[in-house]
Amino acid sequence: MNIQIYEDEVMHYHVIGQSETPHVLALDLEGTLISNAISQIPRPGLFEFLCGCNELFPRMVAFTTVAENRFRNIAHILVKERLAPQWFADIEYINWEGKTKDLNYISNIQSHNALLVDDCEQYVHPGQERQWLKIEQFDYKNPSKDTELARIFNELRAIVHKKNFI
Ligand SMILES: [Mg+2]
Repeated sequence: MNIQIYEDEVMHYHVIGQSETPHVLALDLEGTLISNAISQIPRPGLFEFLCGCNELFPRMVAFTTVAENRFRNIAHILVKERLAPQWFADIEYINWEGKTKDLNYISNIQSHNALLVDDCEQYVHPGQERQWLKIEQFDYKNPSKDTELARIFNELRAIVHKKNFI
């Protein structure tokens, strides 16, 4: 994975959590990590992305519209096919309701200490726009051109490293 830190991208997220490092990473599933719950095509770089994020964040959660039992089935298949690391099958799953992914559904944190990677703006909770990293929806018909997970990882890495220096 090509890893570079871009200062301008870091500056954009300066306000997150003020002096606190975001320590929870919330991941959407469909259009973000895989195509969708039906075809389940993994996004290029999925394994490396998950492993890299696991080193950056002490806590990672799945925040998806896909029901938990279905999510677990998909996660188990990805692990079995070595497309995701072992722990992904047991990743914390956030139960939520409503029209938006309110990060306050993540237990024992304040919402400004979480980041959400999601392809869909409509799920971003009002007031939590700065916690959102927009990833382009996975165009699984042209997977070879897709480098979005690597791009987002670079952003996350820059955010976490920058915050540690403040
Ligand atoms: Mg999505």
